[in-house]
Amino acid sequence: MQPGDKLWYDVQQILKATLTKPTFETWIRPAHCKSFENGELLLEAPNYFACSWLIKHYLPSIIGIASKINGQQIKVQIFAENNKSAINNLTLPAIKTTELPRSTSNKFSKDFVSRRISFPSENKERLYPSLPTLNKRYLFNRFVVGPNSRMAHAAALAVAESPGRCFNPLFICGGVGLGKTHLMQAIGNYRLKIDPEARIFFISTEQFTNDLIQAIKKDGMQIFRECYRKADMLLVDDIQFIEGKQYTQKEFFHTFNALYEADCQIVITSDRPPNQIPRLQERLVSRFSMGLIADIQPPDLETRIAILNKKAEQEKMILSKDLVQYMAGRFSANIRELEGALTRAIALASITSLPMTATSLAPVIDPGNQKVEVTPQKLINKVSEVFDVSIDEMRSSSRKSAVTQARQVGMYLMRKGTNLSLPRIGEAFGGKDHTTVIYAIEQVEKKLISNPKLASQVQKVKDLIRIESCPE
Ligand code: ADP
Ligand code: MG
Repeated sequence: MQPGDKLWYDVQQILKATLTKPTFETWIRPAHCKSFENGELLLEAPNYFACSWLIKHYLPSIIGIASKINGQQIKVQIFAENNKSAINNLTLPAIKTTELPRSTSNKFSKDFVSRRISFPSENKERLYPSLPTLNKRYLFNRFVVGPNSRMAHAAALAVAESPGRCFNPLFICGGVGLGKTHLMQAIGNYRLKIDPEARIFFISTEQFTNDLIQAIKKDGMQIFRECYRKADMLLVDDIQFIEGKQYTQKEFFHTFNALYEADCQIVITSDRPPNQIPRLQERLVSRFSMGLIADIQPPDLETRIAILNKKAEQEKMILSKDLVQYMAGRFSANIRELEGALTRAIALASITSLPMTATSLAPVIDPGNQKVEVTPQKLINKVSEVFDVSIDEMRSSSRKSAVTQARQVGMYLMRKGTNLSLPRIGEAFGGKDHTTVIYAIEQVEKKLISNPKLASQVQKVKDLIRIESCPE
């Protein structure tokens, strides 16, 4: 790993602990380091849109964190992929300095930073286990309690207040994206607030398995065991992945027993109850069922609305009622998707200045719903209507800019909204070559980022098509 890659990786890890997963996955993870020379870190984002977003929201945090890790002030420039010049100095509207809570940016103690730095993967002395840190955003006060999660929430809070006393282990189960990891980490964060020295071990089952394999390979079983058994609290995420792994199950059984005997609180999450995890040793099923099994169900509409409002409040956004209703109605089974939709909506609205309404944001909120059944003819009609350019003109070889633009949008939307091949799209526009179609698509994609008027016209075409296709 080059020093720049390592530095950027460390910055990412710190940001990860303070941001929501969709925010991190959408904006931070895809960027990568181009170079790091003479105190200047060059980052590359996959496109212009992501690049401006990063600059607008995270540049100050990135500079601050990278400088702290590096031990001296460094410069950061962000480029869009394939673009020669960095756009850091573009005038972007209302630069919000950072999402990083002040306490965190001041606080990632030297310890944390040096711990990350002193753990390169090739380091032979690497200690076991290399535990991920808790996400500081997973707190009880950020968790919206509904009838679906009341019991799990109450149990988690009880365990956080009196670890090792009431429900040991606490086994939280429920479907994907329903808040299991959030609740589990909230317990850890709560404990750490009371006792910053507490050894809260949070680990995914996969990582437990990997650490175990490493320990076996490197003759480190003793260290592995000692290390895990030093925990004051053990939080194990997604235990269902232990299914069928006999050796891991055996080792986990011993770890569990040792900690349990020492009154150490154990919290486990899983996508199903212990007795429904296939190929799980009977002795583990019985251990996992000894305390309390609390399940989380999918949230009802009211709870989903409350979750959206809470998230919007955290992002300091005001959402219209119809937008909240639309999103809450579309994503009923998974809060992670609900959150992802909100992140996309906020991102697009802030960059394109589209209004925060359900009609204008529906396609980004719900990209899966974007491909409504549309015939080429209907599409051309709507483009003609919105761009005020006749169909004959679009099919002609006219190069007037208004005509070119309408034609290019027509080609772009036909590509996105139908299964027509490039040559067939060319034919629909009066026999244009497929390379012209490719060029048109690229042009529109580029302009959509920088030209809000065009973005809203394109949106209008989509809305008209959707409204006609969904008569309700
Ligand atoms: P799981 O571990 O069950 O797959 P997560 O705990 O990762 O799900 O939750 C997915 C996302 O949804 C997280 O960002 C989390 O903060 C959010 N979330 C889940 N449940 C709630 C809730 N009740 N209130 C607020 N946010 C929630
Ligand atoms: Mg999880």
